[in-house]
Amino acid sequence: MSDDTPSYGFDTLQIHAGARPDPATGARQTPIYQSTAYVFRDADHAAALFNLQEVGYIYSRLTNPTVAVLQERIATLEGGVGAVCCSSGHAAQIMALFPLMQPGCNVVVSTRLYGGTVTQFSQTIKRFGWSAKFVDFDDLDAVKAAIDDDTRAVFGEAIANPGGYIMDVRAIADIADAAGIPLIIDNTTATPYLCRPIEHGATLVVHSTTKYMTGNGTVTGGCVVDSGKFDWMASDKFPSLSQPEPAYHGLKFAETFGPLAFTFHGIAVGLRDLGMTMNPQGAHYTLMGIETLSLRMERHVENAEKIANWLEADDRVDFVTYAGLESSPYYSRIKDVCPKGAGALFTFAVKGGYEACIKLVDSLEIFSHVANLGDTRSLIIHSASTTHRQLTPEQQEAAGAAPNVVRVSIGTEDAYDLIADLDQALAKATA
Ligand SMILES: *Cc1c(COP(=O)(O)O)cnc(C)c1O
Repeated sequence: MSDDTPSYGFDTLQIHAGARPDPATGARQTPIYQSTAYVFRDADHAAALFNLQEVGYIYSRLTNPTVAVLQERIATLEGGVGAVCCSSGHAAQIMALFPLMQPGCNVVVSTRLYGGTVTQFSQTIKRFGWSAKFVDFDDLDAVKAAIDDDTRAVFGEAIANPGGYIMDVRAIADIADAAGIPLIIDNTTATPYLCRPIEHGATLVVHSTTKYMTGNGTVTGGCVVDSGKFDWMASDKFPSLSQPEPAYHGLKFAETFGPLAFTFHGIAVGLRDLGMTMNPQGAHYTLMGIETLSLRMERHVENAEKIANWLEADDRVDFVTYAGLESSPYYSRIKDVCPKGAGALFTFAVKGGYEACIKLVDSLEIFSHVANLGDTRSLIIHSASTTHRQLTPEQQEAAGAAPNVVRVSIGTEDAYDLIADLDQALAKATA
């Protein structure tokens, strides 16, 4: 769709944005362009493509027509100007930080993050000479205090894993803004249907498209969306974007590409040299899933609300963290941050602690015990013994993954079947 098309609703855009009937064949569905390379018209065309003077296809580590449709679809749904798809959500996180960071730089991040992200940020990025400072994002003064001259970004999850906590995106964006650095939001668990972080001031949005965006647990993928709103030239903090980039024969990305600087850098340098590319088959699965995103999210939320309320009223359960419950300290943030609902991911504490949690997980019949979320199937995991196992007890507690809690990702099955399943398993777990 071009700029002069009317602004369609989400339900229309999730099906049509970025796609048009295939110009070669008229195929209505986006073909899977299973090709590594693309023939240049002539030597001049090839040179223009390599100089980024013309946009086109060279080699599928950089760009691929099927992946390009997904990139445009996600960018549109998030209200961004461009997007780069990657091989996984974790790849997207590295791709988001890569143009911003240098050895010695740090990123200020929320303590409430996906377990794998905690490990990536607290351990692995150190090998690049980067570091992360973990802060409670409900403590705005602490966030401000953590930002120093070497901070290059602030990072948090809109609806945070595993507890379903809701971030005050606007308040954190204002702090990042005042410090002249971008806010990166991981919007995996909310999806753009429930939350649009760019409207709340985020600069970049990252996704694990492995989860709700694909929606059925078939492929891993990730995406970085750029709002196009950050002024990379306002300071000397982001030389890869504002200064001649030595990794691309001295091209000045911000000057040349304006609001698309980050996206072009992500493709021309990030994908080219890090190679964390999404493959066209994977993009196809995610394009299939994304067509029904809003329909699925509505049902996910409806089921999560029913189940969280049922669990909260049950005396075998100590507490439920779902932000959609009136008892939640995050309930008041829903109307601003995610007006269509608080998602479908939360934790609950089982009376009987660690042992009872393990028994519960093993006794469920519909819920699957897996390290995933955002599937049409309901999923459960005992975070402390699995995804958050590498964390210290303090980190587990801060992340909302204490030993007495289980995390559920509520699927789109019949809510009453799910409640019956939880009921029988809780009976066994607390017997
Ligand atoms: C799964 C997940 C990731 C990592 O994504 P992968 O696709 O597994 O690499 C990052 N953030 C959140 C919130 C996730 O749920």
